[in-house]
Amino acid sequence: MLLLGSHVGFKKDSQLLGSLEEAFSYGANTFMFYTGAPQNTNRYPIMDGFTLEAMNLMKEKGLDYSKVVVHAPYIVNLANDKDPDKFMFSVRFLQEELERCELLGIRYLVLHPGSHVGLGVDTAISNIAKGLNMILGTHPVTILLETMAGKGTEVGSSLEEIKRIIDLVDDKEHIGVCLDTCHLNDAGYDMSKFDSFLEQFDSLIGISKIGCVHVNDSKNDLGAHKDRHENFGFGTIGFDNLISIIYNERLENVPKILETPYVDREFAPYKYEIEMIKNKKFDSQLIEKIRNQV
Ligand code: FE
Ligand code: FE
Ligand code: ZN
Repeated sequence: MLLLGSHVGFKKDSQLLGSLEEAFSYGANTFMFYTGAPQNTNRYPIMDGFTLEAMNLMKEKGLDYSKVVVHAPYIVNLANDKDPDKFMFSVRFLQEELERCELLGIRYLVLHPGSHVGLGVDTAISNIAKGLNMILGTHPVTILLETMAGKGTEVGSSLEEIKRIIDLVDDKEHIGVCLDTCHLNDAGYDMSKFDSFLEQFDSLIGISKIGCVHVNDSKNDLGAHKDRHENFGFGTIGFDNLISIIYNERLENVPKILETPYVDREFAPYKYEIEMIKNKKFDSQLIEKIRNQV
């Protein structure tokens, strides 16, 4: 079954229930959320009442709860330990994030590997593994390392780097990968040759390690190392390539998540994009429709 959704909000006064209702309003059958703002680490306590209500609603509607994912905030950076206090802050925050995931019944946490900020890739990789080894295995949650665009000093823009991190992680059962099509394109992986990409992934890391796919189009050319998401079908990857990734049989049970930009920074595109993906037919008027809410 196609598992398709988008990232949704997580608000103080509705929490998981609000996230779920937002997902349903887009016609999604899965979703991803941040446990607070994506760009900071301020977090409210998890309220069990909302979680319970959401769980019941998911059961009632047949939404596969085990596939819902949380995304850690961007500012968590395990790659750099130049400032030990900052590094330990990231470790502790992730530890708490795993606790929140467990309270919410979430099994997958997507994490950006981090940026080395001058330390070099080798040191960064061992720092990331060191941080992960401090927290993994303490909760029944799997951390999915996201493939990155290679903007600035980002680590994890090649499958080899991702593999090197995984190799150093002790608890192999709780480490996996989140593919991001925009990031892969910007890192130089040609998404029009996705089957051969998957082959390469399988021989290096193993397809079973893929726990989530972010299905974003890109504003930039192959290998641009930029990381700017575009609406589905309107970027350099294009509709047909993204559709074949979404419907690839080898990734059938993996949730596909849209992180495409709001139109005019105001209108969520997800309901429209999800419908277009289900129709498997590109609508060149989609952005106009979203803008005018038709
Ligand atoms: Fe991400
Ligand atoms: Fe992403
Ligand atoms: Zn991105």
